[in-house]
This record gives sequence, C-alpha cells and structure tokens, in this order.
Amino acid sequence: MNTIYIGCHLSVTNGYEAMGKTMLDFGGNTFAFFTRNPRGGKSKELLPEDAAALQSLAEREHFGPLVAHGSYTMNLCAAKSETRENGLDMLEKDLLRMEQLPGNFYNFHPGAHTGQGMEQGIALIAEALNRFLWPEMQTTVLLETMAGKGSEVGGCFEELREIIDRVEQKDKLGVCLDTCHVWDGGYDLVKDLDGVLTRFDKVIGLERLRAVHFNDSKNPCGSHKDRHEKLGQGKIGMETMRRIALHPALSGRPFILETPNDDEGYIREIHTVLSWLG
Ligand code: FE
Ligand code: FE
Ligand code: ZN
Repeated sequence: MNTIYIGCHLSVTNGYEAMGKTMLDFGGNTFAFFTRNPRGGKSKELLPEDAAALQSLAEREHFGPLVAHGSYTMNLCAAKSETRENGLDMLEKDLLRMEQLPGNFYNFHPGAHTGQGMEQGIALIAEALNRFLWPEMQTTVLLETMAGKGSEVGGCFEELREIIDRVEQKDKLGVCLDTCHVWDGGYDLVKDLDGVLTRFDKVIGLERLRAVHFNDSKNPCGSHKDRHEKLGQGKIGMETMRRIALHPALSGRPFILETPNDDEGYIREIHTVLSWLG
C-alpha cells in the first residue's frame, strides 16, 4: 500500500515534546521545525529530557522521520568569508544538537555562490559537508532542491548530484524535494510528473529522495521565483498535488507542508491529504 507521512512546520517556542503533541492535535504524523530562528541567531536550547519525551511520543504514535530545517541565513558557499564561517558554525552545532533526536532528518538550502560561479559553490558546499559529517552520526542530512533564484546552488538535479559525488559520507546524505521549488526551477510536475521523477532517479537516484516539502506555487513552471502557495490555490493545482502524494515512487516519505497558512489552514490541508490516502 502507498502511504506517506504528513505534517507541517511548527514553532519550537514551547519545546520539542510540545511540537509532537501539537502535531497529534493537528492529525498529522511528522513535522518540521527550525533548529534556530529561521532568519539566523541563537538556537533554542534542547533539553535532553524534552528531546527524549518527543522521541518516545513519536515512536508510540508511529510518526515518520522528523525534518529539521537549517537556518535560511546559513550559506556554506558565501563569497564573504564571515558569512561562510558563520554558516559552518551553524552546521556544526545543528548537527551535534540533532544527535539528541537520533534517526531524523536535517534539511538545508545548499547555498548561493554569490558571484563565485556554480563550480566553486558546489566545491565549497561539499567541503563543508566533508568537514562536519561523521561515520557514526545518527542524522541523515538532506540537500533541498531549489528554485534556482539568483545564484542559488541546487536549482537542478545535476548540481545536487555533483555535491553528493564529492562527499565522503554519502550514506548520511539525501535530498528533500520541494515541489514548489522544482516547479519554479522548470520541472513540469503538471504535464509530466512521471518524467520528472524518472529524471530525478537517473541523475540522483530515488533512494536518496528521503523527504518532500509539499507546497503549491504562486508562479508558473520555470519562473525561478520561490513563492509558496496553499494546496490547490497555485499554479500546480490540487489534482497534481494529489498525484504527487499518491505516487508510488514517493511512498513512505515524510511530506511537510510549508504553505502560507495559520493553524486552521494546516489542519485542513493535513486532513485533505489524509482523505486522499484513504
Ligand atoms: Fe527550505
Ligand atoms: Fe522547502
Ligand atoms: Zn521555498
């Protein structure tokens, strides 16, 4: 049977177990959270007992893997050395903190080369991963597919493949497919969903596709804009979103809503997706 895990982004303000309880109330069985303020800054202190409480709730309620999200300000291939150093520091600390929640995912935006060229961007991202991934770590690190806005790295599958090729700890590395981003990046999910997934499989391998950011898009395919929309209210549309959620190649993955919603809206979207799964 095809099945997925479904949930949305939650605020870490009240701690980790609180997010698990909120997601139970919402009706979902996975969620995402920022490891720190999404615009940068200090991370919330993760208390070991709070982390353990979340882990046991997630196990008891048969949650899928959680998908922590690195800061938007983390740019591992920034031209400015201060920005890059700051990003390296965030990556190191985030990955150490994730060890308190073993077995989950840590997803991040690969980076923006800010004028240094794609080749150099890819090299710097791979170098950072080679520095901070280690053989015994219990987290899988996911590169997010990007919309190809500005000098973003990861706007096409080939760029992600090149990063993966250069990383030693390949078994700790996967990809998070953001439906809004790949659509904006020029992959036509509406006309050729199978073709896009086949392409992903050829270039990267579907076994590396470990999580999905499940978003509609405000803009047309290939726009390189990155503006998320509520399910069914954007250019991808409800029928295609449904076909993505039910696609056998994506079965078993956590699907995270990053749609512009309040709590009520997320609850509605979670129930919509659950109604498709039957
Ligand atoms: Fe993201
Ligand atoms: Fe995303
Ligand atoms: Zn986005």
